[in-house]
Amino acid sequence: MVQVVISEEDRGEEINIKEKEEAEGFEELCKRLIKGLEIHIFEEKVREAMLRVPRHKFVPEYEKRAAYLDMPLEIGYGQTISAPHMVAIMCELLELAEGHKVLEIGAGSGYNAAVMGELVGKSGHVYAVERLEPLVHFARKNLKETGYDNVTVLLGDGSMGYSKYAPYDRIAVTCAAPCIPEPLLEQLKPGGIMVIPVGNYSQELIRIEKDREDNIRKEKKGEVIFVPLIGKYGF
Ligand code: SAM
Repeated sequence: MVQVVISEEDRGEEINIKEKEEAEGFEELCKRLIKGLEIHIFEEKVREAMLRVPRHKFVPEYEKRAAYLDMPLEIGYGQTISAPHMVAIMCELLELAEGHKVLEIGAGSGYNAAVMGELVGKSGHVYAVERLEPLVHFARKNLKETGYDNVTVLLGDGSMGYSKYAPYDRIAVTCAAPCIPEPLLEQLKPGGIMVIPVGNYSQELIRIEKDREDNIRKEKKGEVIFVPLIGKYGF
């Protein structure tokens, strides 16, 4: 009987080929997903940003196969990574541009922050606050592995904002608040935009603009479903 011995080198190469094939497969699924989101994505730069962020690297191993479906997925601790169409809608409402300083409340997996990181570029920065420590580590790991060094994940109660780096050009809240937290309004720059889901069982996505004279204008942008914002100015 002939015994075939596979060397360590060959085994390493086999793994590399498998990983390459897997990466190509995910890239194809990502393209298909973004094409299917055409009714939600109107801006080319948002489309390109979402094509560049590998969503399968922001979900637990057991969810990888579902990473390119347009749905929220579990990330543990009763929390979810938002559905891709929701990430696209929020990014477009925020009118993100190169150089913006962004505050995200609810870092979760770090995926939304990575997409925003793409949109604000190297001259911009995203500060993403998360209240659950294990998710802070999860988001940091995912962002490090995908190379987003213009995103910083911070542990804290984001319902109070994050005064250290305030004021912000943009604020994205990815969990639902009972009402708009006052500290977030204060930490938004004049001329800035905030997007926040507000409500309990029935939630409404609200886009807020603060003009140069600090006047606030609110606009309802449709019904949504998010996990609750837990904290001093939350539930
Ligand atoms: N943006 C995330 C992503 O891309 O994966 C998804 C966010 S998930 C829908 C909402 C997150 O908000 C959860 O991770 C939850 O722990 C967090 N959260 C809830 N209340 C918070 C608070 N007061 N401060 C910071 N994070 C909070």
